[in-house]
Amino acid sequence: MELRLHLCIISLLLLSSKSTAILSDDDPIISRFQRYLRINTAHPNPQYREAADFILSEAESLSLESQTIEFVPGKHLVLLKWPGSDPSLSSVLLNSHTDVVPAEHDKWVHPPFSANLDSNGDVYARGSQDMKCVGIQYLEAIRRLKASGFKPKRSVYLSFVPDEEIGGHDGAEKLAESDVFKGLNVGIVLDEGLASPTETYRAFYAERCPMWLVIKATGAPGHGAKLYDNTAMENLLKSIESVRRFRAAQFDLVKAGLKAEGEVISVNMVFLKAGTPTPTGFVMNMQPSEAEAGFDIRVPPIADQESLEKRIAKEWAPTSRNMTFRHGQFKQKVSVLDKSGKPILTATDSSNPWWALLEDAVKKANGKLGKPEIFPASTDARYFRNLGLPAIGFSPMANTPILLHDHNEFLNKDEYLKGIEIYESMIKAYASYVDHGKIAGSRDEL
Ligand SMILES: [Zn+2]
Repeated sequence: MELRLHLCIISLLLLSSKSTAILSDDDPIISRFQRYLRINTAHPNPQYREAADFILSEAESLSLESQTIEFVPGKHLVLLKWPGSDPSLSSVLLNSHTDVVPAEHDKWVHPPFSANLDSNGDVYARGSQDMKCVGIQYLEAIRRLKASGFKPKRSVYLSFVPDEEIGGHDGAEKLAESDVFKGLNVGIVLDEGLASPTETYRAFYAERCPMWLVIKATGAPGHGAKLYDNTAMENLLKSIESVRRFRAAQFDLVKAGLKAEGEVISVNMVFLKAGTPTPTGFVMNMQPSEAEAGFDIRVPPIADQESLEKRIAKEWAPTSRNMTFRHGQFKQKVSVLDKSGKPILTATDSSNPWWALLEDAVKKANGKLGKPEIFPASTDARYFRNLGLPAIGFSPMANTPILLHDHNEFLNKDEYLKGIEIYESMIKAYASYVDHGKIAGSRDEL
């Protein structure tokens, strides 16, 4: 025991001297990233005040205007402003969330809030990909732009919001609905994307909408030895088989490379509830009268949500099989359509100049951008898209395994630094952009 302890201490000393050696000739940029990562903003008790204080001190060093808003007490939202020279132009909003998901500390090679930099240059921390990297990369990009003497035409706002990981209701949703937000005159929002294992960055123009479905079957109870029709278990199993066939067909499209993950409807069974409990398990010689199953369904805005609902009513939970599902019994259902009946997505064609600007800016910074994608899960971007605003999900992490919400989440410092250059190029392009329609007739431009 004691020997093992000594070995531990020796290896710890070795580790710390190693990382000190790497740090000493490294950038203060990486230490700022590490400082942000070391603030434990994991649910259920995120240190929002500490995160806000850190962001405010960074903002002060950059002479950005700042305000802290608590739409809900204790849930700090920091809003920063880099004023543009032409207030008649709409502004650019750079959004990021400050909270992270919890981590199982004993499953990590380095403690998840140590932000340990290993000998490969990998920074290990919860939030290193999702998405503290992005929040502070925005600030670093602004630091570089300011140092270069760049002056934005459009105002650039940065929102550091709480609670994304638990639905964003007390964070981005409240911000998007607020009068404060109306006053910002936002024209384009940037929010989070995903890491890319290849050298190509990924950008997202929409996201799948969750439909959480619970179906329940009922049937006559009976002796466990008797064969008869319409038991709750048999009825539910038929539904599960039907759901599984649908799931396989969707998944086949992805496996065959015909559709991207975000373009198909995903269905996963997340619980099964049936049986007659006893203090030690379940009654074995009795068929129960009720059985329930829950499914997490994600629907891309390009899919026909209405026909899926019909399929649920007709095939997955038909009343003819004593299934009690009815319309409106979803645990959660987000419509793929906005109030005017249009799919909630950001255009990627020439009708949206911001997309072309993004592609161009990434290219200028020597990065490659992949095809526009639909985000497979949910992000805060939906609250801004719901307002009819264009919102693009983008986290500049190429050559990086996707480790959000996983053990040992890390980001390599070179990728992190490269991401800052990408944002420098993007923010410059966005903050300088002037709509040609607006300047038509302007003498300066002729
Ligand atoms: Zn995130």
